[in-house]
Amino acid sequence: MPHSEKLTDFVLKEASIFSPLANFFESRENKKALKRIDSHFRTDDKSKWDSFLRNTGRKSFVKNLSRDPRSDEKLVMHADNMNRMRSGKKLGTVSGSTGKRYDIVKLRGSPRLGCNCNDWRYKRSVALASSPDSEKDCRHIKQWKREKQTKVAGMSFLKQDRPEKVKDIYKALKRDHPTMPAEMKARIAARQGKPGKQKQGPPYKGPIKSASIPLSFFNALSEILSP
Ligand SMILES: [Zn+2]
Repeated sequence: MPHSEKLTDFVLKEASIFSPLANFFESRENKKALKRIDSHFRTDDKSKWDSFLRNTGRKSFVKNLSRDPRSDEKLVMHADNMNRMRSGKKLGTVSGSTGKRYDIVKLRGSPRLGCNCNDWRYKRSVALASSPDSEKDCRHIKQWKREKQTKVAGMSFLKQDRPEKVKDIYKALKRDHPTMPAEMKARIAARQGKPGKQKQGPPYKGPIKSASIPLSFFNALSEILSP
């Protein structure tokens, strides 16, 4: 970014109390944005998309583009999502089929994920928000989601992001039933630890012989066995 634009950004951010000054810089930034937009629409040169991509890094460009009558809905969506991607949070990288690394980014202010591949840039970035993930995500994002899922599944149950109640039940089962398979413990704990679950129905009143077996285990078992 050239020095003068850095200064403009600084003034806009830091010195908004000097509103006349801020307005001056802002209108200058807007004028520049309008010029950039105009040059985009005036040329058929293919390289215009390279400068378009660069320009999407500026909020002023995206804002003014959305007001321009020559813009269609898809172009605005494309610019907006590229802007959100460029200022989003990088979640990780994945290797493409040719060994090239791609960045997976959470778009700023959106639950959507972005990628710096051309498929995402030209196709996925203009998929409607209401479309299924299969249309919004490129193959790299899909791969990243799969890798993440595998990682979470392989993580110890107690390290996963779960309610404390569920973890407590899991710990109790682990303590009292050391030979119970982890998968079974996880299933019972997840079922029995659901919010509000403990308040439902009367507690189990059967003859408990061993005090070391937690009530939650019987509750869960009776629930699993009942039709
Ligand atoms: Zn991609």
